[in-house]
Amino acid sequence: MTESNNVHRAKKSLGQNFLQDQNICRRIVEAIAPQKSDFIIEIGPGQGALTSFIKSNNPTKFMVLELDDELASRLESKYPDIEVVRTDALKYSWESLAHLGPCKIIGNLPYNVGSKLIWDIVSQVTSLQHAVFMVQHEVALRLTATPGNKAYGGLTAWVNNFANTRYLFKVPPTVFRPRPKVDSAVVSFTPLPRSQWPANPTNLSLLIKMLFQKRRKQLSTILKKHWSEEVDLWFENEKVKPEARPETLTPQQFLGLSQCVCIKKS
Ligand code: SAM
Repeated sequence: MTESNNVHRAKKSLGQNFLQDQNICRRIVEAIAPQKSDFIIEIGPGQGALTSFIKSNNPTKFMVLELDDELASRLESKYPDIEVVRTDALKYSWESLAHLGPCKIIGNLPYNVGSKLIWDIVSQVTSLQHAVFMVQHEVALRLTATPGNKAYGGLTAWVNNFANTRYLFKVPPTVFRPRPKVDSAVVSFTPLPRSQWPANPTNLSLLIKMLFQKRRKQLSTILKKHWSEEVDLWFENEKVKPEARPETLTPQQFLGLSQCVCIKKS
């Protein structure tokens, strides 16, 4: 136990950097435009910095996912009417939310798992209305980068096939306790219409991972084993040169290419 005098000692392994600035908390919560009719899920409520602002909007249903047992117990005592789920958000069955109706998801995400959580949430929560996450500044840049940009990568190409991302604002280390070593930023996610979601997400994810593992190489070199007439035609129609690098393709082009190339899990 890491408690003394009822003070919680932050666990580095759980990415515990607690927000201290009420104004920043309010701005993050306002970014999901909370309504009374909402079903809101908060990931990693910690000591409740965002939780109390969300709660003050009286959402119809409010659920929080917290991995730290000690913090979960405190939240249960402080907010008896909130559903506190003691779980590792990385293992949570996001698909299971679909039958609970439209939801909004928010969180100041633990740095070490932020990208993975966002990868899963945007692609698995079919009932998502809107999400707002605080992540490492560098990850925020990746999520919102445009093709050709240094920050553009597999995460960008994947996430933007499911949602429109928007960089909202930067948050300095000084507003946390303990202070992280780097800046943070808040990003908003508005899901694309379901009709635009990839029909075969597994193949898209395999293609994105394969191409970005070799991001310095030309597309024709990486795709050599998968080349076909259909792939040739795709490059011609899209006016993409086979010598181009993966980072120059738009998220929609990754999707289009994934429909011509079948990648087998190795
Ligand atoms: N929301 C609080 C705030 O803004 O002050 C705490 C944010 S802190 C950056 C991250 C929180 O996520 C911590 O409470 C931590 O215990 C929790 N956490 C870490 N890993 C988690 C996981 N895999 N699943 C659920 N919660 C996790």
